[in-house]
Amino acid sequence: MKRKNQTKSKEEVRVRFAPSPTGYLHIGGARTALYNWLWKEKTGGTLILRIEDTDVERSTQESVQQILDGLTWLELDWEEGPFFQSKNLERHSEAAQRLLKEGHAYRCFCTKDELDKQRQQAEAKKVAFQYDGRCRRLTSAQIKQRLEDGDPYVIRFKVPEDPIQTVIFDDVVFGRMEKHCKDIEDFVIVRSDGRPLYILSNAVDDILDRITHVIRGADGLANTPKQVLIYHALGEKTPLFVHMPLTLDTKKAKLSKRKHGEVVTIGYYRDRGIIPWALCNFMALLGWSPGDEREFFSKKELIETFDLTRINRANSVFNYSPGDDKNWTDPKLLHFNAHYLRSMPLKDLMPLVEHELKAAGLWKASYVNKDKKWFLDTLDLIRARYHTIKDFSSKGRSYFADKFDVDQPAIKKNLGKDKRLPELLPELAEKLAELDDFSLESTEEVFRTFADENEVKAGIIINAARTVVSGTSVGPPLFDMLVAIGQDRVVKRLKDGVNLIPDSS
Ligand code: GLU
Repeated sequence: MKRKNQTKSKEEVRVRFAPSPTGYLHIGGARTALYNWLWKEKTGGTLILRIEDTDVERSTQESVQQILDGLTWLELDWEEGPFFQSKNLERHSEAAQRLLKEGHAYRCFCTKDELDKQRQQAEAKKVAFQYDGRCRRLTSAQIKQRLEDGDPYVIRFKVPEDPIQTVIFDDVVFGRMEKHCKDIEDFVIVRSDGRPLYILSNAVDDILDRITHVIRGADGLANTPKQVLIYHALGEKTPLFVHMPLTLDTKKAKLSKRKHGEVVTIGYYRDRGIIPWALCNFMALLGWSPGDEREFFSKKELIETFDLTRINRANSVFNYSPGDDKNWTDPKLLHFNAHYLRSMPLKDLMPLVEHELKAAGLWKASYVNKDKKWFLDTLDLIRARYHTIKDFSSKGRSYFADKFDVDQPAIKKNLGKDKRLPELLPELAEKLAELDDFSLESTEEVFRTFADENEVKAGIIINAARTVVSGTSVGPPLFDMLVAIGQDRVVKRLKDGVNLIPDSS
């Protein structure tokens, strides 16, 4: 994607999502993307995707792909990019040269040994080490000489030396932030091999991408004073900073793939049958609240309601309890997912189920044309009890396939209740086979009459039929289920069901 035309009004909101491709897109990162996305949608602005891949050792192509796939799946679209920070190194170096030329930076020739010595001295005095700025005071002649000698150097930013000067910036979430310049060392902006440091690259890209709002995790707060100094030195106006509180686990540890495994990664949620919008709605409330009791938001409602000033300062908690199979992720997310799964328009649900059935080898091409009505009616019928899209291929398998497992407890409970079941089920099958019109009414009529004639409780026949036809003792009302599965299949399953009946002798 190309950069948008630069002639747009100055007021235009420009936000960016700037992930480092050093790992999977996780809940924390995706939430940052979501808040940026919400803000650009609300303001009619532009979202830029910038992949911050300057850490060559740790960045991987696989991670870039995960990020792109994750954002696409969540439907968090961006207007510009993806841009790769590693391609911008020239403009970062140019900025460093300008800072050097204009006296906001200097060459530091201190060797590693010298710095180690300074560090040890600080440790001995039990004070935090801060570079003492000795190279800042080199004369032009000394610098010239060292350059001629080919001495390696880094470039350091010249932090103002005035002891009472502070760096001040306003953060939308954390309020006015202030840091004494004396507590900021002359930080390195370019390494001795000429590579710019991340702190510089990140700020320069934000300047050149004309970012108006930096919405990022609160872990970026520590870097901000230095970046504000860079902005000032380059004569630029600072963007509005919006640092979002972190998302922690129940033990207050920061979420990470290393510590928590797949459960914090976005790809995992797709694989486990989570609906993208359910996850977005859930993530939106991790650290933001609408100020009232509402929990469920359509896309449109969330965009309208979302406001940066309502982002909480306190860290949010991702209630994930490892080892709990039922609540394999935050119960609130499962609750949201069930809500959307049961209430979303069928046309939106259909592609998600299609993806799942394809993955499970249960998909038929006819579901998009000849059998589309049947397919949608069936989804509507069975979704009432489901929690995830996976349930369509597991719990719902008997609707889409003839080979399915029959639940053992259901067999025990429902097929041993009457010794005559081995004869009754095939006879019932015959009666149903004779129907010209296999409908709710006609099937119910057959069941009731059959039960009366054979002097068996309707409930016994109904439960036995449910078990052999659908493989489980729970599900939609029996006659709806029979009609959905269809006459031929029901007849066959009732006949074959005899083989499932436990030996009662
Ligand atoms: N690249 C940083 C990260 O992935 C984000 C930096 C920023 O948003 O300013 O943590």
